[in-house]
Amino acid sequence: MTEAQTQPQKTNKEKRQELERFLSVPENHEATQRRLLSKINKNGTIPQRNPELGPCWLWTGATTGHKPQYGKLHISAIKQQPRAHVVAYLLKHGVTPEDKTDIDHLCGNTLCVNHNHLEAVTHHENMLRVRKGWKKPPIDEASRTTRFFDAVAHEIRKSSILEIQEKTGLSHPTVSKNRAAVRSDPFIGPLVIETEKQLEQATADHEQHARAVAAWKADPVPQLERRAKHLNQESQQLPSSDR
Ligand SMILES: [Zn+2]
Repeated sequence: MTEAQTQPQKTNKEKRQELERFLSVPENHEATQRRLLSKINKNGTIPQRNPELGPCWLWTGATTGHKPQYGKLHISAIKQQPRAHVVAYLLKHGVTPEDKTDIDHLCGNTLCVNHNHLEAVTHHENMLRVRKGWKKPPIDEASRTTRFFDAVAHEIRKSSILEIQEKTGLSHPTVSKNRAAVRSDPFIGPLVIETEKQLEQATADHEQHARAVAAWKADPVPQLERRAKHLNQESQQLPSSDR
């Protein structure tokens, strides 16, 4: 790790080319594919925007942590942690087409690594899509609840255990347990913003999200308690094999 710090910073393009070269070696390709497949749940949701694409393949490995979350795969040979969906795209297509630097999700689910749901686009096109679609989770009651907690989770992730202890007055084990649960946060679902009404709802959600962050900052105790309760309910709903 310290070794990497002494080397000159590579550009994103150089890193991508390095990754492409690494994956072009048959043994690397095969080994990486095997690793990727071991961290995929192929029974994801059918994207509401493009249902003909079939179900999402949900990444179950490590994620970038911040929102929107992306899967990441550590490749020690090239000292990189590329996004899992980029690896999935390259395993299928070999290289990124010239100028199309961004690998976009046609399903809107950033944790999806189904190569049929991925498209290489220019950064400009990707940004246009972000503006059009907001890349937000689905608008339903469950996701609103999840997003509220995501806001709190985001703040918790940024804070150390000591900082949270200072804020909440809770014990070290309690904070540690909550924080660990928050870190293994569930994924963001596909987006479904297609009408004016849904856009309005997304705006309202965005404001609710901001309020949740402000509430946590003002008085974290009730937020953390609600979060813990929510996670407990969620874990009870999961089949035991998932844990
Ligand atoms: Zn997908």
